[in-house]
Amino acid sequence: MHLAMDIGGTTTRVAKFSTMNSLVPDLIDTFPTSYSYDAQVLAIRASVDKLTKMKLQSVGVSFGVGFSPGGKTILAAGKMNDYIGKHFVRDLSRTLGAKVRVAHDCVCALLAHQHHKFTKNVRCFAYVTVSTGIGAAVAIRADKTTLVFRSRIAHQIVDASGLVCKCGQRGCLAAYCDGEQLEFRAKKAGNGHTSLNCHEFARHLAQGMVSLSWILPVEVIFTAGGFFESNPQLFPLLHTAFSKSRVTGHYQHCVVRKSPLKNYAPLIGANLLRTTQKTIIFN
Ligand SMILES: [Zn+2]
Repeated sequence: MHLAMDIGGTTTRVAKFSTMNSLVPDLIDTFPTSYSYDAQVLAIRASVDKLTKMKLQSVGVSFGVGFSPGGKTILAAGKMNDYIGKHFVRDLSRTLGAKVRVAHDCVCALLAHQHHKFTKNVRCFAYVTVSTGIGAAVAIRADKTTLVFRSRIAHQIVDASGLVCKCGQRGCLAAYCDGEQLEFRAKKAGNGHTSLNCHEFARHLAQGMVSLSWILPVEVIFTAGGFFESNPQLFPLLHTAFSKSRVTGHYQHCVVRKSPLKNYAPLIGANLLRTTQKTIIFN
């Protein structure tokens, strides 16, 4: 039996797929992501233990953190400080008694879009997730090989005189579009909840995406995440803001699309981690 897992900033999802071409996972379990590393590993073990007694062969894990070059140790994890320096692949593999392969959630999402032919005739494409955190990955295809790597889009400057980000810089994209920072600011202001200014949000996000397409020859940017689900008006605003922000040039053909795989993309990609011989993942 093979499992796919997506560890998000809020929720961990465990699923299996009937075939490698399934677009919808069989969601087996969801539970809150623990910010204690040991507790999270134990929670994963408990979740898997609830399953059938079939022998677990492999687990593909989508996780929005930074990994070591070998893709086994966690080097950067934002607010999940307890995870930093942990040998996640070794620990999970020992706990589950199965082969484990991990990749950044946006990397997994790109694998999913490629596998399901949403990138046909496209040589360079990106994925941006906008949820508890904001993240991105880029894929470049040459001949039959694809190179996929994450992009640190969250802390690029979109307003040099803007809000101070948690990283210490002023005007990061994350200061405007990171769910955790928006919530923190709302609490500090005394509002109990985040009141989203969709126009401002879309404008900054579009600026970040345009910058991404300046640096690399990205032809399509897929995007998804909790903000789009809870604010249906957001994507049309983003699309308009992105179109306005573009200038004529080599990347004029770059377009932004709502992910056709919705929030399943990281899980689908996690399931594909065991079959990606022709993909180089640059951690
Ligand atoms: Zn920042």
